[in-house]
Amino acid sequence: MPVPNDIVWESVIVGGGPAGLAAGLHLARAGYRALLVEQDRLGGQARLLGRIENYPGFPSGIDGRRLMDRWVRQARRWGLRTRRAQVRGVGRHGRGFVLRLQGGRLLRSRTVVYCPGAEFKGLGISGEGRLRGRGLFHAAFDRPSRWRGRTVVVAGGGEAAVHQALALARQARRVYLVCRAGSIKAHRLLCRRLGETARIVLILGATICRLQGRRRLEALEIAGRDGSLRLAADALFVLVGKVPAALPFSAGRLPPGFFVAGDASGDADRQVAVAAGSGIKAAMRCIDFLEDWI
Ligand SMILES: Cc1cc2nc3c(=O)[nH]c(=O)nc-3n(C[C@H](O)[C@H](O)[C@H](O)COP(=O)(O)OP(=O)(O)OC[C@H]3O[C@@H](n4cnc5c(N)ncnc54)[C@H](O)[C@@H]3O)c2cc1C
Repeated sequence: MPVPNDIVWESVIVGGGPAGLAAGLHLARAGYRALLVEQDRLGGQARLLGRIENYPGFPSGIDGRRLMDRWVRQARRWGLRTRRAQVRGVGRHGRGFVLRLQGGRLLRSRTVVYCPGAEFKGLGISGEGRLRGRGLFHAAFDRPSRWRGRTVVVAGGGEAAVHQALALARQARRVYLVCRAGSIKAHRLLCRRLGETARIVLILGATICRLQGRRRLEALEIAGRDGSLRLAADALFVLVGKVPAALPFSAGRLPPGFFVAGDASGDADRQVAVAAGSGIKAAMRCIDFLEDWI
């Protein structure tokens, strides 16, 4: 398919999570022709969070979907255009960029703000791919009621895993939190809530070494210092870390006019407010770049 000649967009933003929406809002409000391309629903992972308690401005916390809906409304009010599509490739074209969308359509832009987030890491054991979505998940904030009265396992020992275990414990009969390290790495408030939630059983210094179940997950095997244990479980949530989405250019050699923001930037401080700040910062650098464009 031929590359369109006219440069339509001054900036194309890839990914409509907090980083992309903040960048898009900032660019659109500043008067630039910006298009945000999102493969799914706008709001990214933040949309799935049942309650965000640490985002400033909401003393009682706010539901992730409601927060993201506000961002979308604000961005659109300032003229941000959005399109639902997956970006399959980004390359250089003249002084700007060409983006290839799923289905083959091409977009041209002077700049790109790249915000596709980060992907969940797996456990690296056999059966994981086969059981993904069939009892094995990475997050369930949007539908915790599905696990009412069930036995579920969360793998991981960081804040996301504890957050997930606490959310599930509101509905599940029993939640096993299996952590490879000898202690949980979460802030004091989460640790206190963990200690106060009787339905959560903490298994420290242990690894999940086998998954059982043909069509869907039925049980898993855990190896610890004192031997191994078989746990029958309705679901396993794997929250053992994330890896930033791959960049279309090598990290040390990003071309001028290409900016990365949010979880995709590799910042270990993965928070909605941090992603928003990073998106705005990228938009500001993008504006500087566009102002120098002759
Ligand atoms: C379990 C869990 C609990 C959390 N709890 C909190 C919390 O309490 N407080 C807090 O502040 N943060 C929390 N976070 C972190 C927060 O959700 C993220 O840091 C934030 O959403 C990152 O924003 P982002 O825009 O960088 O990426 P994301 O929110 O991941 O958005 C990226 C978007 O890009 C889209 N995308 C990816 N590739 C493409 C492509 N090729 N084409 C088009 N679109 C694409 C994706 O569909 C997605 O919508 C939590 C995260 C998890 C997983």
